[in-house]
Amino acid sequence: MPWLEIKDPYKIWISEIILQQTRVAQGWDYYLRFIEKFPSIDILAFAKEDEVLKVWEGLGYYTRARNLLKAAKIIFKDHNAIFPKDYEKILALPGIGPYTAAAISSFAYGLPYPVLDGNVLRVISRYTANDQDILSSKTKKIIENYLNELMQEVKDPAIFNQAIMNFGAMQCTPRNPGCESCQMSKHCMAFKEGLVEQIPFKLKKVKKKVRTLNFIDLIDNRGNRLINKRTEKDIWMGLYQFLLLESNIKFSILEIEETIISNEIKTKGKLTLVKQNEYRHELTHQTIKGKIFTVRCKEIINAGPKMIKTNSLSGYPFPKLLDLYLQDNHDNYDK
Ligand code: SF4
Repeated sequence: MPWLEIKDPYKIWISEIILQQTRVAQGWDYYLRFIEKFPSIDILAFAKEDEVLKVWEGLGYYTRARNLLKAAKIIFKDHNAIFPKDYEKILALPGIGPYTAAAISSFAYGLPYPVLDGNVLRVISRYTANDQDILSSKTKKIIENYLNELMQEVKDPAIFNQAIMNFGAMQCTPRNPGCESCQMSKHCMAFKEGLVEQIPFKLKKVKKKVRTLNFIDLIDNRGNRLINKRTEKDIWMGLYQFLLLESNIKFSILEIEETIISNEIKTKGKLTLVKQNEYRHELTHQTIKGKIFTVRCKEIINAGPKMIKTNSLSGYPFPKLLDLYLQDNHDNYDK
């Protein structure tokens, strides 16, 4: 990984949070942009949420960005803007779980905490022939305890953690692991018992929920349009959107009119449906079908949501599917 040599806990923290749900190839650019915009904890601590979300735009799982900001404020206030060196204090920060706390503690400070990412779980579950559901917290705890014991004899926890992660990524791979050339094969229980193909074992996934979000991008002849901030505890909290009705019913101009009226928005002139776009967004537990209806009217005269001009759209953070819609449909929209 490009940030392997980094010892700065702030940078390790940012990189680990970005990589929680993101591939390295995609995350690296975001990491560089984030560090350029917010090079230190004190600068991040005084950033506005919209600014942080704007840099995060398109990366998904936006709670991560909001938690970074919350944690930076706590570090600034409670730890004199110095990243804590104690595992428990790191773990107490918003958005930091045992994996990230262990990564920061071992990579930045050389503390003996094992990191439990997918690679490590696979290697140890095979090495110990643990054939229980690898995603269950019970199995993870067993593996963590096993590693904690090993850690007591390790001289350099950062190298140990890095080595086992790399071993999982390069030798003990999910498919076709290199068992024949593996230096661990003599002691690997899964190899000895012929269980390599069956481990790690995963219980079948539950079917994903499908949600249909109907957005109405209402534009008047003066270039005004309506956006509002998502404030509910749901995906994309803190990002902006157009008028929304979540429903699986087929949307026509009638449903569009009803949604506009029920949001207490008054318009002048006939409502015309100009275009309909559809984008899909896959999350871990749900599939989002985003239908965006571009609707024109003569004048928006009364609006509860925020009324903005088209040329200021790029100053607001939007969920990825709305961002794609704006990029596809508006020449002057610049991400
Ligand atoms: S022998 Fe195969 S399964 Fe066991 S640690 Fe080596 S690569 Fe992984």
